[in-house]
Amino acid sequence: MKGASTSQVRRTVRLIGLPTDVNSSFLRGPAKGPAAIRAALASDHSSGSAEIGDAFGQDVRWNDAGDLPLGEEEADSARIEAAVAQAIASGEMPFSLGGDHSITFPAMRAVARAYGPVDILHFDAHPDLYDCFHDNPSSHASPFARIMEAGLAKRLVQVGIRTLNDHQRQQAQRFGVEVMLMSDFVPEGIPILEGPLYISLDLDGLDPSVAPAVSHHEPGGLTVREVLRVLARQKAPLVGADLVEYNPVRDIHGMTGTVAAKLIREIGALAARNA
Ligand code: MN
Ligand code: MN
Repeated sequence: MKGASTSQVRRTVRLIGLPTDVNSSFLRGPAKGPAAIRAALASDHSSGSAEIGDAFGQDVRWNDAGDLPLGEEEADSARIEAAVAQAIASGEMPFSLGGDHSITFPAMRAVARAYGPVDILHFDAHPDLYDCFHDNPSSHASPFARIMEAGLAKRLVQVGIRTLNDHQRQQAQRFGVEVMLMSDFVPEGIPILEGPLYISLDLDGLDPSVAPAVSHHEPGGLTVREVLRVLARQKAPLVGADLVEYNPVRDIHGMTGTVAAKLIREIGALAARNA
């Protein structure tokens, strides 16, 4: 990964690999995500540049903390929370590499403990608001129910949603979630959040033609350009981010890995720009 000279660094982003997919409801595979994302980030096919930010990403330093040892057990959640808390305590922005989407709840616990309730910008095909899914309250279909119940977000804005059902609509109403349906999507329609801002990016929010390596293909999704337009409009300081649900087992010529790497660089550049 391309570094930057210390004199120019405005923000250090700590990459925390979370190789877990035990809370996936359909297919396993996202546990292999962090290693594949690192390979895409390090690949010589790319210059390491970013579109967001004046210095094309050179004002961001990356600190790769490696993968957390996770054991598909209850204690994993506390390990994730502790790793994110450590990054914050070191003055670095935690960027969790999933892993399935269940990791966002423990990550957000650490973020909210440090900053209080924050604004969350959540890209996904799915609202992930199930009270419980397949008898698993920790399911990757439920993290935002847990986050809202725990009062960790002052606003939750969901972008790319195209699978809203009755139960999740009720949950969204109950928690005051701002569900921006894909059917109505325009980048300018997405609120600009006051912050502090946490970004949670489930790759299945993108269209499967753009990001085929996800467990749940949901056609009719976002383009990379649309995600970038939503991100670039955000002005608030970032306090954390995650990119989840990359299932490299299903990738084609590593194209989804390339998309993941680009979006990680752009979010890092946004963190530096908004610092
Ligand atoms: Mn999803
Ligand atoms: Mn999700």
